[in-house]
Amino acid sequence: MAKVTLDRLRKVYPNGYVGVDGASFEIADGELLVLVGPSGCGKSTLLRMIAGLEAITSGDLHIGERRVNDVAPKDRDIAMVFQSYALYPHMTVAENLGFGLKLRGLKKEEIDRQVREAAATLELESLLDRKPAALSGGQRQRVALGRALVRKPQVFLLDEPLSNLDAKLRASTRVQIARLHRQLGATMVYVTHDQVEAMTLGQRIVVLDKGRIQQIDTPMALYSRPANLFVATFLGSPRMNLLQGEIGERDGGLDLSLADGVHLSLHPDAESVPRVREFAGRRLTVGLRPEDLHLADAAPGRLSARVETVEPVGSEAFLNLDCGGHEIVVRVPPRDLPHPGATVHLRHDPDHLHYFDPESGRNLHG
Ligand code: ADP
Repeated sequence: MAKVTLDRLRKVYPNGYVGVDGASFEIADGELLVLVGPSGCGKSTLLRMIAGLEAITSGDLHIGERRVNDVAPKDRDIAMVFQSYALYPHMTVAENLGFGLKLRGLKKEEIDRQVREAAATLELESLLDRKPAALSGGQRQRVALGRALVRKPQVFLLDEPLSNLDAKLRASTRVQIARLHRQLGATMVYVTHDQVEAMTLGQRIVVLDKGRIQQIDTPMALYSRPANLFVATFLGSPRMNLLQGEIGERDGGLDLSLADGVHLSLHPDAESVPRVREFAGRRLTVGLRPEDLHLADAAPGRLSARVETVEPVGSEAFLNLDCGGHEIVVRVPPRDLPHPGATVHLRHDPDHLHYFDPESGRNLHG
């Protein structure tokens, strides 16, 4: 296995459109790194540049110690798995798995051995004689993974491999990919637009928007310290509540005035106080995740809000509230739920507030 190093990789399409704008990061040897972002953000372009399927406009790409900008895809020692399985319909699973090895001229016994090994890893042994038409979507995707596996590449590149599967199969195949990664200790780059897939699979995640990297970090670090409003609202479902208001001093502390008589007391930590103070008399955006607001009794400094709708989802419920004209969502236990139209009061933990510059979108934590 090998590390992959991107240094200011840039892709300008022939029509002048900048698909990827200066991506620099390293994928460690044996790491599973996820590229995530909304449709059109440039994640496939980036993956295709690593694969050699898209020419690099500028910057340097290394796989291991070798600069591969101008190396043909087949000589980069990578294996790619796509959303569409692209299996040969007239071949059995075993033949599909072994086809690449046959092309390389390996002996039949050696091909059989490697096919059996891959089939055992992916639990495909009982399906080796079947044709793709007789497989479920999840099984076909496992064969596609197996085809990549038998090649024993330096790097696996996976482009939305689970998008064609239904929700249940997606979850189980995701677990299988995570297990496969652990077993092989393989270097993997995984592209998805699905933030749950990114959070659950990635050891580190690269968040992209409009061709630019927004943040690179572990899933929990991205969730608890998003660098900007884009990352803050892209990861997390329901998404982070954003409250914009004017910063002022009240009762000796800082607060956010949301509307006439509607205030949120802030109590920023010592590190944030000077940064928040800079916004005194100006507008600031404060973010609160739905799980960081709790139903409570009325008390000074607590928000009150009107219940619009209640969405029980079994293990929890989401309350959609109107708070002085701001829509907010609160995640609560599914018992003793308030009714639409009721007034509720909310307690929040000041340590879990996020502060953003509304102009630049940057997290004031820097
Ligand atoms: P993603 O995989 O994140 O959905 P892509 O990497 O496929 O996004 O595309 C990034 C952007 O580049 C998109 O806005 C897309 O329209 C544009 N793009 C992709 N291919 C071309 C091309 N051949 N010519 C011009 N623009 C392209």
